[in-house]
Amino acid sequence: MNVIPQANPYLENQKLEEKIVSAVSRVVKSGTYILGEEVHAFEQEFASYLNVSHAIGVGSGTDAIFLSLVACGIGPGHEVILPSHTAVATATAVVMTGATPIFADIEKDFFTLDPSSVELQISSRTKAVIVVHLYGQPAEVEDILQICNRHGLYLIEDCAQAVGARFNDRKVGTIGDAGCFSFYPTKNLGTIGDGGCVVSNNPDLTERLRKLRQYGWASNHADSTIHGYNSRLDEVHAAILRVKLEHLDDFNNWRGLLAKIYSDNFTNSLVSEPKVRPNCYHTFHLYVVRCRDRCLLQQHLSSHGVGYGFHYLTPVHQQTAFKNSITTTELKVTEEISKDILSLPIYPYLPPADVKHVAKVVNDFNDA
Ligand SMILES: *Cc1c(COP(=O)(O)O)cnc(C)c1O
Repeated sequence: MNVIPQANPYLENQKLEEKIVSAVSRVVKSGTYILGEEVHAFEQEFASYLNVSHAIGVGSGTDAIFLSLVACGIGPGHEVILPSHTAVATATAVVMTGATPIFADIEKDFFTLDPSSVELQISSRTKAVIVVHLYGQPAEVEDILQICNRHGLYLIEDCAQAVGARFNDRKVGTIGDAGCFSFYPTKNLGTIGDGGCVVSNNPDLTERLRKLRQYGWASNHADSTIHGYNSRLDEVHAAILRVKLEHLDDFNNWRGLLAKIYSDNFTNSLVSEPKVRPNCYHTFHLYVVRCRDRCLLQQHLSSHGVGYGFHYLTPVHQQTAFKNSITTTELKVTEEISKDILSLPIYPYLPPADVKHVAKVVNDFNDA
């Protein structure tokens, strides 16, 4: 039986293989492999794509969040508010700074950070809020920005799943103090390995980020002016990402088209489709449905060759390393939806006919 996997980054890499190989070869021949022309050009092209003044390439999405927090002066003794319903990496980045992650609940319609839950978690130690544009869906970032401004908190946007997504007319990542991106292979803008980027309109913050990613070096590369790290975007990845960036809007449109095929074809009342926030552009990194009998749906999909995933199975505050985390309120929506969500296949070059087939398999599901 032919299996349709839940994710398949090889499809886009296969389509663009010639361009990717020639980009890599250009780097090989350049003789410069770290922070050279490719990273510089990618940073400019990415900043211009998002309409933001600065972009700083770093080693991964996790590092993008970690370094942004450090650049904001966040460390031991501070608290950072974030959703528990996210990739564990969001919380990992907070822990890396020595600050304490404080988990808040999500909106039941959109699965993104709930502004009213954020407000309940603010204490005298709170320094920042991380909003996650989960699955490609922009979070209620305007309300959260107002809360941050009222309380003097930094706002960091985790855009790992939402490159190109828009809240009203603004691309996500350009609304808070810093926007953090991941170029992990399955992300909407993915390389062939690890990579990440921070964007910001704040020149002080970006100057610190440029130092932090490279040993705290001043621009003369002679004086380490602050304690830094080693987290750079490689030339090879920057060259590949420049190829991919040219296709990003097409990739996102492809995902949007597949999402529409799902919602146009679903007829099964046991399975509910995702909602899109009004006035927003959703990049459908993931297509996540809900089903009360998820276990039975899984068996049904497997027996019909349909791949699926869980994003996420265990809320971060219930995972082993985070079990002692502080939550002052119940995370009701988070705990409820983790039991019934399931991610269906969606990615560039997945044929529309395959998605119609998946929709039919879902429609044929019954819990009898
Ligand atoms: C992928 C992801 C990250 C981490 O990115 P890496 O590049 O794997 O470090 C962080 N947050 C979210 C929401 C993600 O999906």
